[in-house]
Amino acid sequence: MGRAETVMSNLTGEQEEAGVTTQFNLLRSRLESEQKRLIGELEQLKASVRPANERREGSPFGKREEEATETLELETRLALEKRIIDQLAEIEHTLSKFENGTYGLCDSCGQPIDPARLEALPQANLCLSCKASQAKNAKSR
Ligand SMILES: [Zn+2]
Repeated sequence: MGRAETVMSNLTGEQEEAGVTTQFNLLRSRLESEQKRLIGELEQLKASVRPANERREGSPFGKREEEATETLELETRLALEKRIIDQLAEIEHTLSKFENGTYGLCDSCGQPIDPARLEALPQANLCLSCKASQAKNAKSR
């Protein structure tokens, strides 16, 4: 009986010391798996592009409609691709902050970012107040 209790209290003691590191390591692995997922998604998206000559085939009727659909598809695909690339860039930047030992600090003011915010959004690079003022600036542009 006494053994389990000793293990438990040892764990609690270690957690207090390494709490931040443990959280950051978890967030880092979450970011890394998210990075892998996005790279896979991007590859899938690129693989789904049909060759140009294949697109010309099909019914001669309703061609205009078909073309319109294709343009929309292309735009959606490009928008999606851009979003994934943006997300990947953000994650890569965040991972580089681990290397520099600046992870968890705001890119703009250098203050620590709220751990709850990091938990919800591991790739957050701005603290809430900088994020808010950035959003305000973007709107007034
Ligand atoms: Zn800030």
